[in-house]
Amino acid sequence: MITDTGPADQAAQEPAASPGDELLLDVRDLRTYFKTDDGIVKAVDGVSFSLERGKTLGIVGESGCGKSVTMLSILGLNPKPGSIDLEEGASRPDAMIRALRETSKFTSLSTGEAYFGSEDLLSVSRSRLREIRGGEIAMIFQDPMTSLNPVIKIGDQLIEAVLLHNDVSKKEARARAVEALADVGIPRAERRIDDYPHQFSGGMRQRVMIAMALINDPQLLIADEPTTALDVTTQAQILSLMRKLQEDHGTAIVMITHDLGVVAEVADEVVVMYAARAAERAPVNSIYEQPMHPYTWGLLGSLPRLETDVERLMQIPGQPPSLLRPPPGCRFSPRCSYAFDRCRRELPELEPTTFDPTHSQACFLDEETKLGEARRIVRAFAVDEGAA
Ligand code: SF4
Repeated sequence: MITDTGPADQAAQEPAASPGDELLLDVRDLRTYFKTDDGIVKAVDGVSFSLERGKTLGIVGESGCGKSVTMLSILGLNPKPGSIDLEEGASRPDAMIRALRETSKFTSLSTGEAYFGSEDLLSVSRSRLREIRGGEIAMIFQDPMTSLNPVIKIGDQLIEAVLLHNDVSKKEARARAVEALADVGIPRAERRIDDYPHQFSGGMRQRVMIAMALINDPQLLIADEPTTALDVTTQAQILSLMRKLQEDHGTAIVMITHDLGVVAEVADEVVVMYAARAAERAPVNSIYEQPMHPYTWGLLGSLPRLETDVERLMQIPGQPPSLLRPPPGCRFSPRCSYAFDRCRRELPELEPTTFDPTHSQACFLDEETKLGEARRIVRAFAVDEGAA
C-alpha cells in the first residue's frame, strides 16, 4: 500500500459516492510515475473522472498518452514498490519524484483516489484487489491471442475464471462457461468449449475474451482497444455485442481507444487525454457538437468521413512530448497553432465551461474563441448529430 497522508489527503479520502447512489467509479487526481533508467516518467499526471453504473466512458488519445496506464493503475497492475511514505508538506508530484529517486528499484508509484463504490482501490489490500479483479471488475485487451493461453483449452480457461471467484463445483463452472460462450454468439458452444484458442478466428477469440470478462457478472468492464486488431465488420459485431451485453447485465464500461468513431458508437461520456493529462471531458454528443480543446479539434479533423469531399485529412503537426521531460506550461503548446505566451508558462487545469457544467476543458483560450472555432471545425468536417 502506498501511504500518502496529511490532513488534506485524509479529508479527500471520503468518497463522494455514498452507498446506493449511481456513481460506480470516482477517480480523483490520479498520478502514476515510473522510475526508469532515463529518469522519472510521469505516465499519468493528475487525472480525474467518474462513471455511473451501467454507463460507458470512452478514454481517447494517442498511443502513450496514459490511457491504459490510468486503468492499470486503478487495478494495481503496475509494478509496485511496496510501502513508501511520501514526504509531508511537499507537493504531491515533488514528493513522488523524491520517493522514486530514493528507491533502488525500477518501479512505479500511484497516488490519488480511485473509489469503486465505497472502496478506494489505491488503498485496499492486495488480497482484496485480487478478489475485485476478475470478479467485480474485469478487463479485456486488444489482442486476445496474447491474453488467452494458447496451450490450454478455452473451456478450462473459462472454468478457472469461474472457480477463482465462486464456490461452485467444476460441473457447474463448466455449465456457466458454455452459457457464457453461447451468450457472446459462439455457435455450438458445448462442443467448442473444448477447442484451443488457435482454432478460433480473431473475432471469435475476442468474443471468448468478452465471455471470460463477463463470466462473473462484473459491475465494471474495462475494454482496452478491444476492436483495434479486428477488421471493420468484426469490429462492428463486437461493439454491438458489447452494447447488448451491457443492456442485459447493466455493466458499466470504460472503453480505452484511439478511435473517436468507436467512442461515438458506444460512449455516454468521453475523456480526451493528452500527454498524461485530461484535455477535455464531456458527454459524447457535446464532444462532437461543441469540442472545446484544440487537441480535440485536431482529432476530429483527422477523422476520415465518407460524406465530405476532402483531399487531405487534417493532421496534428509534431509528436506527443516525452513524458520524461514534458514541456513547461500546456503540454500541447508545441503542437498547438493557437498557443500564446501564457500557454508556455502555465499548466491549464480542467475547468467546466459556462454553458455546461458537465463539459470541462483544459485550455487558456477564451470561451468565445473556442465556441467560434468549434463551430468552424464541426462545419468544416460535417460532424453532425448523426456522427454521435
Ligand atoms: Fe493551445 Fe494554449 Fe489551449 Fe494549450 S492552453 S491547447 S497551447 S491554446
